[in-house]
Amino acid sequence: MAKQINETGYRVVVEPKLLEAFWYRGILGDKGAAQRLKDLRSLADQIADQIKRHVDGVGNIEVEAETEAVCSHCGSGWTEESAVYNGGCCAEDEGSNPAYVARACGEAI
Ligand SMILES: [Zn+2]
Repeated sequence: MAKQINETGYRVVVEPKLLEAFWYRGILGDKGAAQRLKDLRSLADQIADQIKRHVDGVGNIEVEAETEAVCSHCGSGWTEESAVYNGGCCAEDEGSNPAYVARACGEAI
């Protein structure tokens, strides 16, 4: 037995990349990352509305967020299986190191 991937359905994925390309080229000015995300969300909502109005055969359409896991302290990409310790990406994260926490608890007793 080996793992096998079967296709079980299809959907159309629409990505509003053009505006993102404009940002990279500086055409829309220098905006902060938070404002760029708001603009991108707004554009995605507009595209979804336009698809609802103009495209036949659409059963459902929704805007999904792309996500990434990062350290809440320093913003580094999350690389570990643990939900509380990211391998020591920063001093605050190192404070959650299970080995360190176990030692600290042992000393306290
Ligand atoms: Zn960190």
